[in-house]
Amino acid sequence: MNQELIYLDHAATTPLEPKVLKKMLPYLRDNFGNAGSIHTLGQQAKNALENARRTVAEILHCAPEEIIFTSCGTESDNLALRGVFENVTEKSHLIISAIEHHAILHTAKLLKKHGVELTKIPVDKNGIVDPDEVMQAIQPNTKLISIMLANNEIGTLQPIREIGKMLQKRIPEPRAKKELIFHTDAVQGGGILNLDTRHLKVDLLSLSAHKFYGPKGVGILFKKRTVNLAPQISGGEQERNQRAGTENVAGIVGAAEALQIAEKNREKEFSRLEQLRDYFIEQVLLTIPKSKLNGDPKNRLPNNANFSFFGIEGESILLRLDFENIAASSGSACTSGSLEPSHVLRALKVPHEWLHGTVRFTLGKSTTKEDLDRTVKVLKKIVKSLRAISPIF
Ligand code: PLP
Repeated sequence: MNQELIYLDHAATTPLEPKVLKKMLPYLRDNFGNAGSIHTLGQQAKNALENARRTVAEILHCAPEEIIFTSCGTESDNLALRGVFENVTEKSHLIISAIEHHAILHTAKLLKKHGVELTKIPVDKNGIVDPDEVMQAIQPNTKLISIMLANNEIGTLQPIREIGKMLQKRIPEPRAKKELIFHTDAVQGGGILNLDTRHLKVDLLSLSAHKFYGPKGVGILFKKRTVNLAPQISGGEQERNQRAGTENVAGIVGAAEALQIAEKNREKEFSRLEQLRDYFIEQVLLTIPKSKLNGDPKNRLPNNANFSFFGIEGESILLRLDFENIAASSGSACTSGSLEPSHVLRALKVPHEWLHGTVRFTLGKSTTKEDLDRTVKVLKKIVKSLRAISPIF
């Protein structure tokens, strides 16, 4: 294994951007103060924290007070869902899509166990939610609609703005006062898609810094001023009483820096990745027989290519790719390691013989055309040799 690593798993996590690390280091070394302390060291930490909040707020087009820092995307999602329903006493209703990340799906299932009514909106064969179906699912007791901005496995982009607009027509602002709240899990869109919360017309939006070349251990939740959330971690008064615990100052500084860098290059990088993605998809489908793309060919993240290869196992492909120093994934990072086909692929009704042979490639900043050419070549060889020993091919 002497070939250089080709990392095509950016949806699982991204490497820390060196400029981000540089920004973080002082807060791990000399400026180690607690942002809650009154002395100068503490106040320096507090200033860094509030500067980071302003930077994030500018990109999300909201007020700094509407940004809550958490420990990860999962925590932001949990705070959004549990935080809404904990405040509700009567029997209430939650709408999600069938292809949400487990951070939403499992939390919704838990809420259902506690009496919340749950509706899962199906997706079409390309993995896209129909906004009309979302509207039709609304009941008088619906409290929250949570639909992801982009899917982590197949990369499909969901019509969040359209849903937001329809909700606005149906329930004039402030919607949250009428107790119907709209959340989007934007974790996979961070640094890639437009995160303007006014444009998206959402009340809550989750992000995770390690998906946009920031550090692990920092999540962001945008919470519109009009929304009331019950805190899920109790203790001190940090984050305006929404999330107790001493703030991860270095991590938060890094998250804001990473988001700012990504935002500056966002449109240019989007087109570059999109071109590479389309080239890669074309090459794979052309050179590997009985291969198919999952999800929408165009309406997807510019860095996502998810394929099924007939008659073989995705895990076997991944292991052999790893042996060739190519890192990819069989689905979401959380489900890899399990041989159960993912709920996302099942929602797309991918036929059984194709379902198990699924591999997700997610491109990133470092990805070049040469990386993709080598991946296609290696992949072709792997698929051929696995099919030679497959009982069903
Ligand atoms: N939501 C989506 C769509 C994701 O892809 C992920 C992680 O893969 C998460 C939530 C959870 O984020 P974190 O890993 O920061 O907990």
